[in-house]
Amino acid sequence: MRFSEMRYERPDIAGVTEQIEKITRDFTEARDLAAAKAAFKEKEELFCHIETMASLCSARYSLNTRDEFYTAEKSFWNEAGPKLEEYSAAWRKALLETPFRKELEAEFGDLIFRNAEIEQKTFSPEIIPLMIKENELVQAYDTLCAKAQIPYGDKIYNLSNLNPLKTSTDDAVRLGAWKAEGKWFADNKAELDRIYDELVKLRDEMGKKLGYGGFTQLGYYRMGRNCYDKNDVEKFRAAVVKYIVPLATEINRKAAERLGKEFPMNHAEGAIEYRSGNARPVGTPDEILAHALTFYEELSPETGEFFRMMMDNELLDVLAKDGKQMGGYTTEFPEYKVPFIFANFNGTQHDVEVCTHEAGHAFEGWLNRDRFPSDYVAPTLEGCEVHSMSMEFFADPWAELFFGKDTKKYLYSHLAGSVDFIPYGTMVDHYQHIVYEKPEMTPDERHAVWKELMGIYQPWIKLDGEIPVYGEGHGWQRQLHIYEVPFYYIDYCLAQTVALQIWALKEKDFDSAWNTYMAYTRMGGSKTFTDLLKAAGLKTPFDEECLKEVSEAAMKWLESFDLGGVE
Ligand code: ZN
Repeated sequence: MRFSEMRYERPDIAGVTEQIEKITRDFTEARDLAAAKAAFKEKEELFCHIETMASLCSARYSLNTRDEFYTAEKSFWNEAGPKLEEYSAAWRKALLETPFRKELEAEFGDLIFRNAEIEQKTFSPEIIPLMIKENELVQAYDTLCAKAQIPYGDKIYNLSNLNPLKTSTDDAVRLGAWKAEGKWFADNKAELDRIYDELVKLRDEMGKKLGYGGFTQLGYYRMGRNCYDKNDVEKFRAAVVKYIVPLATEINRKAAERLGKEFPMNHAEGAIEYRSGNARPVGTPDEILAHALTFYEELSPETGEFFRMMMDNELLDVLAKDGKQMGGYTTEFPEYKVPFIFANFNGTQHDVEVCTHEAGHAFEGWLNRDRFPSDYVAPTLEGCEVHSMSMEFFADPWAELFFGKDTKKYLYSHLAGSVDFIPYGTMVDHYQHIVYEKPEMTPDERHAVWKELMGIYQPWIKLDGEIPVYGEGHGWQRQLHIYEVPFYYIDYCLAQTVALQIWALKEKDFDSAWNTYMAYTRMGGSKTFTDLLKAAGLKTPFDEECLKEVSEAAMKWLESFDLGGVE
């Protein structure tokens, strides 16, 4: 079914909660396994419907944040979500207490129970008002950013369509764009600081109410972490500083040389990688999508069928429009068993990454669309980012289709950028650990922490104060995850490390790497992240050796890559 034909209807919450209560009761009172399974199946169907309505609403709202109908619906869900959570919690409690656990585990595995245990730890009815308030604050941040009006030259830009200017080859234009954006953040500093300060204190209160002494442990539980903890992440951070930061510093030193700039460079200077500009895709958005279809059809029968289905059903909305939310994401409409991709094409290599990265997520969802229980359709988020980040690398042999004469530029900067990203992402995570450990910090103290971390994780960036906010080392407010999904960011770094491992395999033997990828992806979320890796024969990123190996492989490749002919 086409996206436009999918029917949205606000569920009657009173009716829904009654239904959940009845199903929970039926499950609890089940006399035999068959009755328990029947109730389990009914619960799956009901939640599938609710989730579909919620994500249809959220998708249509993000496509046009000025749409009055979906703005109102979004407010409805902001309240309904936490209320429904109370009933989900009662369901999970019943699930965890069922006398048929052994039989259900034998059929479905024990992970649904382990995950339910973790989820139970994130909720108690007394935090509902705080959860509602949290949703409101997140939406306030979202709306503030989506409605940004940034004057530059004789035009007004938003945070998405200013991006091409931030990578312009004209040094003055580029610097001006960075300054214009920095000024917007400076002008809105008070509001951005207020929203975050309230979020931090609110989350801290939630953590305390649930008995964790603060937010961090709750944040881990909310991310569904079921196979590693804070100490593992700390070890990962140390390995990033040891192996990846020096390599990323070298990458940036070489970039400065290529650009004829003094090292270190500021944000604007370092925003381009080549004097003639960053790799740009060739063709119109429609042509880019057509190239993506060619790539997926040639890659494998499964990916070909998948991408054609996406295009035939309006499941890719990729053009930047006024009022559209920033960023990109993939979501699912489980009732229709299809994913949906949201993006803002802006004429940069990002557009191609939407077709490879976001479609990597969507491919996994589609591949596992029939999985039961639905809990196993997708793994925790770091596991999911492996699907997308690795897919980006599998597109390398088709790079010429997307980038034409800029192919060399793209291939080099894709790998260099993947390495360069890991320290940044790790810093985003480290920052949040410090913030939630000391929730009493003032906004200015938080800004100082970010600046200090930049010295550790991004020593190649010059902070001379020339660009407002960025040049002062306060640029974190641009990173929406810090506001919206605390502790999410490390997932990208863990996944990027695994993706680099798959990239290194692909460099040796494409087909065997693709088979490893498919083996990993076909398992959906039926295992924990580290178990998925093990089952697919991949190394865990918590093993220092893993970072050492990928950094060595990447260094070798980058050093020997011939950038001859690239200006
Ligand atoms: Zn992703």
